[in-house]
Amino acid sequence: MDKILVTRASMPSYEEYIDKIKVLWDSHWLTNMGQFHKELEEKIRDFLQVDNVSLMVNGHLSLELALQALDLPKGGEVITTPFTFISTTHAIVRNGLKPIFCDIKMDDYTIDENKIEELITENTVAILPVHVYGNICNVEAIEKIAYKYNLKVIYDAAHSFGEKYKGKGVAGFGDASIFSFHATKVFNTIEGGAVTFNDPNLYEKLYNLKNFGIRGEELVVGVGANAKMNEFAAIMGLCNLEHVNDNFKARQIKAEYYINKLSELKNIVLPNFTAPGDTEYNYAYFPIRFTQVEKRDQVFDALRSENIFSRKYFYPLTSDAACFKNKYRNLPLDNARLVADSILVLPLYPEINDSDIDRIVDVIKKVLDNI
Ligand SMILES: *Cc1c(COP(=O)(O)O)cnc(C)c1O
Repeated sequence: MDKILVTRASMPSYEEYIDKIKVLWDSHWLTNMGQFHKELEEKIRDFLQVDNVSLMVNGHLSLELALQALDLPKGGEVITTPFTFISTTHAIVRNGLKPIFCDIKMDDYTIDENKIEELITENTVAILPVHVYGNICNVEAIEKIAYKYNLKVIYDAAHSFGEKYKGKGVAGFGDASIFSFHATKVFNTIEGGAVTFNDPNLYEKLYNLKNFGIRGEELVVGVGANAKMNEFAAIMGLCNLEHVNDNFKARQIKAEYYINKLSELKNIVLPNFTAPGDTEYNYAYFPIRFTQVEKRDQVFDALRSENIFSRKYFYPLTSDAACFKNKYRNLPLDNARLVADSILVLPLYPEINDSDIDRIVDVIKKVLDNI
């Protein structure tokens, strides 16, 4: 049987891409904020309906540099979720800040806004929530808390490209949001990312941080990294952006097919794409949760033996990673732990066949029925 992977990188047709990159052989301008970098930055700004965008070489450096640009005091505490990709926590620690892990909610797996306030101390400087699987955090409640305690809010929006919440683009929430355009994400530039924000002053700060602080041939104004997106990546983005709405739509159809097939099964919790009723989803992921925890690994293994690659995404919690375990304030993370132990992300991408989904559903059924 053919291998089924958890995702499949979206690509334009070969001709579309080749046609666009041809001009690079005339200009020889391959990076350093070229014409296509500029064009993609503008198109993404329009698409995400946000005031400011700074393109970056990847999602991780988008997050590291966004945190740095906000000038948070070193050693400060950042309240965040442990139910995320390790990048989120690394970015905090690599900025000389301390992650304080907050538990998540069982219904959408985002940070539990009702548990944030009790974690705030005089050392708290920011909140870093994640719109995990494209489920939008309770941005209103988080904004209220941030205002009350004078904290910055940075959203890891790596999963929520193109989503809207109550009619508003998600990129506009908080002091900054970051996106990943990695090959495995719903919109990709091969490798890439972006910071989005409302305060225009951040643009120059991020520009300096992503380009060595260089502002002129003989002028270096600050200590910076190198996190520029190159022109080949930007062109991939321009091509993929043309198809991104079709991509969301195709994923939605496949997600609905899954839901239709799986809804009769007991003991699994399906993603609720109508949950708050307010979100326009991008259908990037299809996570299911097993109410009998031991079934998760059994299904994972059974799928693997059929050459089907699901993912225990996110297991373990980032707070349990070998490099972070027992290093920070030890707080109860009961929901996060339960979800990490019982969640499984199933293969989902626009071209997945219905017959592939049928195969996956059959394996799950067999394990749940102990056949
Ligand atoms: C993918 C991802 C990142 C990192 O993005 P890269 O482009 O791979 O560097 C950060 N946070 C989350 C939640 C992600 O899924």
